[in-house]
Amino acid sequence: MGRYNSCTGNFTFIDLRDRYGKVQGIIDKKSADFLESKRVTTESCIQIEGEIKSRPKGTENKDLVSGKVEIAISNLKILTLASPLPFELTKDDVNEDLRLKYRYLDIRRTVMTKNLELRHKIINFIRNYLDEKQFLEVTTPMLTKSTPEGARDFIVPSRLHPGKFYALPQSPQQYKQLLMVAGIDKYFQIAACFRDEDARADRSPGEFYQLDMEMSFVEQKDILDLVEDMILKLVKELLPSKKLTFQKIPRLTYDEVMKKYGTDKPDLRKDKNDPNELAFAWVIDFPLFEEEKANGHYAPMHHMFTQPKAEDLKYLNEKDAHKVKAYQHDLVLNGFEVGGGSIRIHDPEMQKKIFDLIGFSEKQKQYFEHMLTAFQYGVPPHGGIAPGIDRLIMVLLGQPSLREVIAFPKNKEAKDVLMDAPSWVDEKQLKEVHIKLDLPKEKVEKK
Ligand code: ASP
Repeated sequence: MGRYNSCTGNFTFIDLRDRYGKVQGIIDKKSADFLESKRVTTESCIQIEGEIKSRPKGTENKDLVSGKVEIAISNLKILTLASPLPFELTKDDVNEDLRLKYRYLDIRRTVMTKNLELRHKIINFIRNYLDEKQFLEVTTPMLTKSTPEGARDFIVPSRLHPGKFYALPQSPQQYKQLLMVAGIDKYFQIAACFRDEDARADRSPGEFYQLDMEMSFVEQKDILDLVEDMILKLVKELLPSKKLTFQKIPRLTYDEVMKKYGTDKPDLRKDKNDPNELAFAWVIDFPLFEEEKANGHYAPMHHMFTQPKAEDLKYLNEKDAHKVKAYQHDLVLNGFEVGGGSIRIHDPEMQKKIFDLIGFSEKQKQYFEHMLTAFQYGVPPHGGIAPGIDRLIMVLLGQPSLREVIAFPKNKEAKDVLMDAPSWVDEKQLKEVHIKLDLPKEKVEKK
């Protein structure tokens, strides 16, 4: 990319930038390409040949890594000229929707490029770490059946099965448990998850990524030890300027943190103004069910596959179930929940009992028949966790919003303003999937 800078009588200066850095190019009036160089507009794409030279004394630029040198351009070819830009790439306070609409320009800004680079490195680190520990990355389906993570599903109409719908996975929860039955004793996936929720400060609306993990023959401590080792090594290797509040991540009970901090995701940084401080904490021993009953029934605090603690099984009845604690674990970082998981139920009878306490009808129970069936074929005890990739990276990098660490995020209204999605589809497409729209007048946006 060439960023045309200035042109004195005898020279044209061109800032050359690519993903790896920036260097000044200079082209002499005597050069055959001098006239051509004057046509170069800001952010054009050019090809050059030239000689790298030390800059004349006094003209060095200390702010640039390559500021001691410049390229004396001998050959210049304009590959494509850039139109006037919708915003200046050097500005920091550009309207966010404008940035998202022209995201490909926004990503050219060094800070965005760096965020994406670090995101890659973090995911790469995780993959290598888990690969060394013999974890298998398994891809699970996108077109599937509803997964009960407590949010609304995105549904996809089926053309081949009129009137039926797939759901996009809220998480691969059931698949990863089925993989345990399948003998894949260490599983992970950088998994796309879809939840039809309104935007929240710490969750991108629509879709997000999780480091989804599941292991067989583990106790809660094993999961915590492994994730802790991975995450602390990751911080030390990739983010050496960060300061860890705790060299060993404290393991606190839900009751303890609620009493002391009034929240289950306490910010334990010593200095809350220090952007480089990272305070991880584990919160464990959550109640199995939410305090408030929903429709007269218990609602799971984590999800319905979470195993109650052995010593509390005596309370697992209609009257006392609120006293039951679970093998649930949340990873907290600087006041954000960056991951949650649990030891799972692997006894079909226990699972049925939980379904009853949640108030499942026979029809709803049937929805999970495949899990109960699978558990009849030698299911190993298992458990897992799923740190949220976007959220974890946002907090690790000290970014103000999830959108800073995602290449093409939705805006706050869950729209992709670059592609203009969601959008209307053709009548023909609707017909193919046997759908007729019946829109309430006040909800119809202009076509
Ligand atoms: N599936 C859970 C979630 O998305 C995580 C887990 O229990 O492993 O929150």
